[in-house]
Amino acid sequence: MTEVKMNLISYDVIIIGAGAAGMFAAFTAGQRGRRVLLLDHNQKIGEKIRISGGGRCNFTNLYTSPAHFISHNPHFCRSALARYTPNDFIKLLQQHHIAFHEKTLGQLFCDDSAQSIIDMLFEECQRAGVSWLLGTDVEKIEKTADGRFVLNTTQGVVEAGSLIIATGGLSIPQIGATGFGYEVARQFGLRVITPSPGLVPLTFSATEWQPYIELSGVSMAAKVSCEDTDFHENILFTHRGISGPAILQISSYWKPGTALNIDLLPDLDMEENLQQRKRSDQLLANVLAEWLPKRFAQAWCDQHDLQQPIKQLNDRQLQQIASELRNWQVNPAGTMGYKKAEVTLGGVDTRGLSSKTMMANDVPGLFFIGEVVDVTGWLGGYNFQWAWSSAYAAGTVA
Ligand SMILES: Cc1cc2nc3c(=O)[nH]c(=O)nc-3n(C[C@H](O)[C@H](O)[C@H](O)COP(=O)(O)OP(=O)(O)OC[C@H]3O[C@@H](n4cnc5c(N)ncnc54)[C@H](O)[C@@H]3O)c2cc1C
Repeated sequence: MTEVKMNLISYDVIIIGAGAAGMFAAFTAGQRGRRVLLLDHNQKIGEKIRISGGGRCNFTNLYTSPAHFISHNPHFCRSALARYTPNDFIKLLQQHHIAFHEKTLGQLFCDDSAQSIIDMLFEECQRAGVSWLLGTDVEKIEKTADGRFVLNTTQGVVEAGSLIIATGGLSIPQIGATGFGYEVARQFGLRVITPSPGLVPLTFSATEWQPYIELSGVSMAAKVSCEDTDFHENILFTHRGISGPAILQISSYWKPGTALNIDLLPDLDMEENLQQRKRSDQLLANVLAEWLPKRFAQAWCDQHDLQQPIKQLNDRQLQQIASELRNWQVNPAGTMGYKKAEVTLGGVDTRGLSSKTMMANDVPGLFFIGEVVDVTGWLGGYNFQWAWSSAYAAGTVA
């Protein structure tokens, strides 16, 4: 690794943020013969890749399409995603002999560890002659009259004709996330869509969650809806609320003060099933345990004061039970915040950027890529695909 420790060095391209997008853009530009400096305030590169996908990095999704992204400008991601696709990234992995598998719904994970992705990106950067400046903070950025970017850093002054901001969002401040990219955007007159935590567990008031606290660890399939968006995956009960893939997905659409609707038995005609068992001596909780986790069925019956055998319930009551299980309304009090959020919604307003190159329309030479931009993927490998695609768009022109 070429570490730079001098007082003024000129580059063609400086990239701030040695995460997924920053490293990808660095070797893409380096391969074109550009002299590239990659700078990060952390000593370690690609920390978020390391912790991603439970340590195995869900690095893309085979079914990636613009529909899997949330943005105030839903078409913005289209061009970059079309020009660097999941198959392109798969080819890169194959060149590096990295084994992977599809877990579910097109989600591709490393067979071994996420570290192999970091190693691959590092190796590509080395091969492309990228210089590194790690453990370094940027104190000031100025644009000179002749259009170059001069950066005062804690390790001296560096300058370049192109500056790529790849500092990510605010999620997981414990490993170095900052709002630096938003500050740079504002400094150069770009708008920032207010960031908020996405793909994050939801919490409830202590009173509302009291009946469910003991269910912590229970998981079940459900369909969770918020206005006209729904996800049919697992939900997971926690001490403070609910998590699991369906909840993480819907959290990116949920707005404080609104309710969520949870269909706990999305694949069943519940009314019909209860009718078939209405002469049984079994307690309702035991009947429901045929389809729902036993602990949940018991807690739900206790909370609704339904401790009797099913045969003591009339048709109207059975109808109501079926309806409540299909339409459980919950009112989250909030989220677990940036400490637990997998992504940050909002970010640099795409109206100020070119969708082909990621360059700021009014600031030639300034680029924003990856999560710092107001493009947020669903759970399932889409966020890394956005990092690769947006980095490719910038790296091929910067
Ligand atoms: C727990 C977890 C699991 C995840 N799992 C997946 C998954 O399996 N699949 C998926 O698609 N997505 C996943 N994500 C989301 C994914 O990790 C991010 O969307 C992706 O890393 C964004 O890439 P990026 O390069 O834009 O930002 P980052 O990877 O966050 O990189 C930003 C870099 O900028 C540096 N930086 C920040 N501030 C400064 C500063 N002021 N000065 C200098 N450097 C700075 C940081 O140190 C970091 O190296 C996960 C996220 C989390 C938190």
